[in-house]
Formats: sequence, structure tokens, C-alpha cells
Amino acid sequence: MQPLIHSKLHNVGTTIFTVMSQLAAEHGAVNLGQGFPDFPMSDELVSLVDKAMRNGWNQYTHMNGLPLLRERLAAKAAQLYGAAIDPDAQITITPGGTYAIYTALTTVLQPGDEVIVFEPAYDSYIPNIEINGAKPVLIPLRYPGYSIPWDEVRSKISGRTRMIMINSPHNPTGSVLREEDMRQLQEIVAGTHIIVLSDEVYEHLIFDGIAHQSVLRYPALLERSFVCFSFGKTYHCTGWKMGYCISAPSLMQEFRKVHQFNCFSCDTSKQVALAEYITHEDAYLSLSDFMQQKRDYFRKLMEATPFRCIPSHGSYFECYGYGHFSNETDKELAIRLTREYGIATIPVSAFYKEGKDDKVLRFCFAKKEQTLERAVEKLVHLC
Ligand code: GLN
Repeated sequence: MQPLIHSKLHNVGTTIFTVMSQLAAEHGAVNLGQGFPDFPMSDELVSLVDKAMRNGWNQYTHMNGLPLLRERLAAKAAQLYGAAIDPDAQITITPGGTYAIYTALTTVLQPGDEVIVFEPAYDSYIPNIEINGAKPVLIPLRYPGYSIPWDEVRSKISGRTRMIMINSPHNPTGSVLREEDMRQLQEIVAGTHIIVLSDEVYEHLIFDGIAHQSVLRYPALLERSFVCFSFGKTYHCTGWKMGYCISAPSLMQEFRKVHQFNCFSCDTSKQVALAEYITHEDAYLSLSDFMQQKRDYFRKLMEATPFRCIPSHGSYFECYGYGHFSNETDKELAIRLTREYGIATIPVSAFYKEGKDDKVLRFCFAKKEQTLERAVEKLVHLC
């Protein structure tokens, strides 16, 4: 007898990030596909982890996360967003932002529930919803600015709507939500049972002087939200897989029921190190300028190529259109660029359930200047 498995995700293959990173490695291509920095993280933070391990912080810590780290995260939320967060009841440290998102969805969703998701959507969202037997209700962001069509949101709310997912700064497009968006969202959910899931992993990577509209700024939203964050994005260490979730106490209580039997507790030494390092405000307050310079440098370089910029205001990414010079699908072009030009990108159709192809590629600019130069010089002669 063969082992038998009924796939819970029959239409799902390998994530596009792995596919493109593997292709990049096979062809020795510059990897502007998967989003990760290629410059070193803080040496001081690395030393703090080393110190914590040598000091014996190598066993399980509190299931909700190291108390001192949660206290300091609450203080940071108060300072940045004016939020009154109880670190004991409202914060849980997680192995990455993606895990926090999956856990929040799993905590809430019952078979048949509906979740409003905006497309293009980060690639884990829809499988995370479907594996829980729930249904994504897909709303396309307005191309090419990728803003939310709030009237359409209103028309898609039904008695089964359990959640609305938002993501700002947005992966893959770099669009950002404004105060007016938050007002619309508040209006729509007021007087309903709808829960908001806010993916804010790029909170500190926001450009052009725009203020991040965290759900933490809006008490009426926070009382019905899970807000997910990432240390990996803030401290240039995506491989650490460390993040956290903030929510209302009643929601967090349920979140922890799921979390305790899945991961239980996260890397202790890194939490000890982060609890100390987080007191350096400058490390996160300087990030927007630092990353905006990279975006601007990349954008300038790209002017010499035939691509058309779809301006990013945040995240690691900027999208570029090519429909005016090629009829290839975005996947075909992404593969050809990797094989023939030695530069890997992500085709944006991968972020649509039905593979909608606007002929747009996502480029990660969170790289050393020389990496960006090496990548773009190959594209200058593209046709
Ligand atoms: N968040 C990263 C990106 O958008 C990828 C993470 C992953 O590979 N799963 O590129």
C-alpha cells in the first residue's frame, strides 16, 4: 500500500522566491528577486547574541516572549504610535512575521469564512487562508498606483466576512496606506465583527517623508486587529526569522492557544540581544533614509534601461513595467533575464491567485550599491 495524502493545497507549487533564488544560483545571476539585504547586519547586535549565548541564555524562554523584550516593544509602540500596549496581554514574539500572520489566520478562521485580500498579495496569504478551509475574497488594487478601491471593499462585505488583510508598506508594490485609507477601513468595520490583520513588517522602510499608518495609531482598529512585525526587516537579518504580533488582549489570548502548540517559544539568545539593542532608537529611526537612498540610486540606474518605474514609497521593492517593449509574460521575461542577462527578479503575476499579468517585475533594491550597479548594467542593452 502506498502512503496516502490528500493535499490541503492542491494548486500550490514551490514559492516563487525559492524558484527564482534557485534559478539565480544555477545561472550565477545577481539576485534582485527574493527580498533580503546583501550587506551585513549590525556587528554590535551579533556580539550581543554571542554574549547572551555565553551568558547561558540557551534554554526556553517565556512562551509569549522574553518579558524584557515585550516591555521594550510596548514602550516603542507608545513612543512611535501613541499606543497603550500591555506587554503581558498584547504582545507575542514569533518566529518571523509570516508565522505571526499564519497563526492569526489559523486562530480566527473557520471553514466557510471569507477573508478580504487585496491583490497583488504577498504569496503566503491565500494558501494560509485556504488551508484553514476559508475563502479569500480577492480585490485587485488599482493599477498602477496600487491603491485600495474602498467602494469595492464595501460591496464585497458579506455575513461571512471574518477578516480584512492589509499590508503597508506593501509587498510587492511598495504602495503605502494613508490616513484616508485608515479612516475608510475604520468606517467599514465599525459595528461589525470583522477582524483586521495588518502586515506591517516594513514599518520602518517608508520613504518620501510619509508617516507609517500603523493600526497601532488607531485604538478603534487595534481592538479588532492582529498587527504583525518583523525584526528581520528592521535589523537586516531576515534569516533570523524573528518577529512579533500585537493585538487586543482577547484576540491575543486565542492567538497564544495556537502558538503554544506550534512553536511554543522563540530563540532566547536573540531575544536577550534584541531587548538590549532595541534601546538604540537610531537603528530603526535612520532606516527610512538609508533605504530610500538605495531606492533612489536604483531608480536612477534603471533610467538607462527600457523599464518603466511604478514608484515605490516603502518596503525593499520597486516594480517596473515592460509591456511597451515586450509581449512576453512576466514569468517568461523573469526567466529570460535570469538565464541570459544574469539578473533575477520576481514576476508580479505570482502575487495573483489567477496569475493576472500586467507585465510588471518586482526588483529588490535592499542591496549594496555595487550589487545594484552590476545588476542594472546588464539590463541597459535589453530588448
Ligand atoms: N519576504 C521575502 C520577499 O518578499 C521572501 C521571503 C520568502 O522567501 N519566503 O521576497
